Amino acid sequence: MSVAVNKAGAVLHTFILTASIVLLLVCPACKRPELFREAKFQIGTVVTLSAYGSDQAAIHEAFVRAFAEVERLGALMGNDPSSDVSRINDAAAGTAVTISPETAALIATALDLSLKSQGAFDISFAPVGKLWDYKAQPFVVPDKETVAASLKNVGYKNLTLNGSSVIKTRDGLAIGLGAIAKGYIIDSCVEVMRASGIEDGIVDAGGDIRVFGKKGNRNWVAAVRHPRDTSGLLMSFPLSPGEACATSGDYERFAIAGDGKRYHHIIDPRSGYPADNFISVTVIGTSAMIADARATAFFVMGLEQTKEFLRQTPDCEVILIDQQMRCYASSSLKKRIQLIDKSLLIEWF
Ligand code: AMP
Ligand code: MG
Repeated sequence: MSVAVNKAGAVLHTFILTASIVLLLVCPACKRPELFREAKFQIGTVVTLSAYGSDQAAIHEAFVRAFAEVERLGALMGNDPSSDVSRINDAAAGTAVTISPETAALIATALDLSLKSQGAFDISFAPVGKLWDYKAQPFVVPDKETVAASLKNVGYKNLTLNGSSVIKTRDGLAIGLGAIAKGYIIDSCVEVMRASGIEDGIVDAGGDIRVFGKKGNRNWVAAVRHPRDTSGLLMSFPLSPGEACATSGDYERFAIAGDGKRYHHIIDPRSGYPADNFISVTVIGTSAMIADARATAFFVMGLEQTKEFLRQTPDCEVILIDQQMRCYASSSLKKRIQLIDKSLLIEWF
């Protein structure tokens, strides 16, 4: 009798073992979750996708789809000859250019921010932007007359958007979506990864990020780089599920001229020269597109105008660093910022 029990027990034990091996083989989701990450150079920057989960094959498949989405949107919103942007730039004044609904939505958001930032944010900065060639050897500061002449073609009011149709009122008007498209693409990638069944992850394009879900029972954590020692970090903070964080910095694309002055890629469209209020601006909010665009806008607007904007539109948080390394941050961030560089003093507002 007892032998029979032992035998039955052994049989049961073998069955459970076999079942669990089979389960592990057929149910990768039953494995312990881990962090998977893949990176690619796309849209002029490094796009890094992360997911926390256990089904490696499904995660890889989601990454493939998200990278394809970056490629697709980059072809519409970048400077390829057939992109929406190039077709607008090549068009003559008065000719209606039909663009994709996605680029149209992006341009609508950009025009709205131009209005709210009193022209500090302006996708039609491009005619003056192209005078600043940071890669040229040697780097040459454009002369004042050339800058002033190109400003005649700058001005978002010379661009009309009607549904998915764009009309310029000046032949020389040209746009560039470098300050906002990255954020839009990040948001789209998050949607693609979620639609592919990934619940927890990060989409990072050149340091601008949006998170979704969590890493286990912990929130994802973001950090702000030291603008003058970009291998160092100033502070870190957790991001709630769905939050985005974008930084505009004068250290991302710049050249040092013969006089030792730094000239960088964020242009004040009213003067035609690089904005010199801040050296780093971080915006935290629920949309990567809005965070990206506002980081550039606030960079140009400076402290007082940014504070006024936030009083009117208190739906994002900021970390602003000026030329003297003084830091100003939204007081609502006080509870979650962890200082890494202890020498940094923050003025909360
Ligand atoms: P970001 O790194 O998001 O601040 O974007 C900077 C990029 O936006 C630059 O490299 C330009 O392509 C573009 N840009 C520069 N100045 C402006 C501006 N005032 N408004 C809109 N786009 C700008
Ligand atoms: Mg931006």
